[in-house]
Amino acid sequence: MPILLAAFASACVSFKSDSDAASATALAPSPESIRQVEALLDKAMQFQEASERLAFSKGRALTKDEAGYAAALGIEHPEKIRVRYQWRLPKPHDPELLATFKDLGFGSWLEGGRTHGYGIFVKSYFSSKSAIIRHELVHVLQAERMGLRAFTRQYLIEAMTYGYFDMPLEAEAFNKTEGERY
Ligand SMILES: [Zn+2]
Repeated sequence: MPILLAAFASACVSFKSDSDAASATALAPSPESIRQVEALLDKAMQFQEASERLAFSKGRALTKDEAGYAAALGIEHPEKIRVRYQWRLPKPHDPELLATFKDLGFGSWLEGGRTHGYGIFVKSYFSSKSAIIRHELVHVLQAERMGLRAFTRQYLIEAMTYGYFDMPLEAEAFNKTEGERY
């Protein structure tokens, strides 16, 4: 997958300083993590699509302010986005995917919101916290830019390689929303 790897490397460099570039290169994704993600990707996509359908079935459209923010970010189809509030965020049924999902920190109580394609989930407890939606909109932008499958693949590889706090896709969301992290 040379094209994706090239995109991944440039995403790395774009948020790290020059002095960090060498260490970022040293921390390239391992063949094992790439193999593991490739093996899970079909199941991960089924989970993405099922969760997105759930948001579409009972979610709300963006408010005028949120839609304006989404358009300013560069999202092509803000009208497709639905926001759904739940006490617990969706989790995969497949045991293998669920195990990886938990290993990567998804489903923990620290998680305030999550994006599945054009579906944004926010924990009901945080329903008044609009910063979560702004953060999640960056992930909608990323998935729109790359395509949902390529985004999902890259997100999982980055999470395995760098961990949530250092991964480039989260760094972009952090930087674009002035330091909000979810
Ligand atoms: Zn995020």
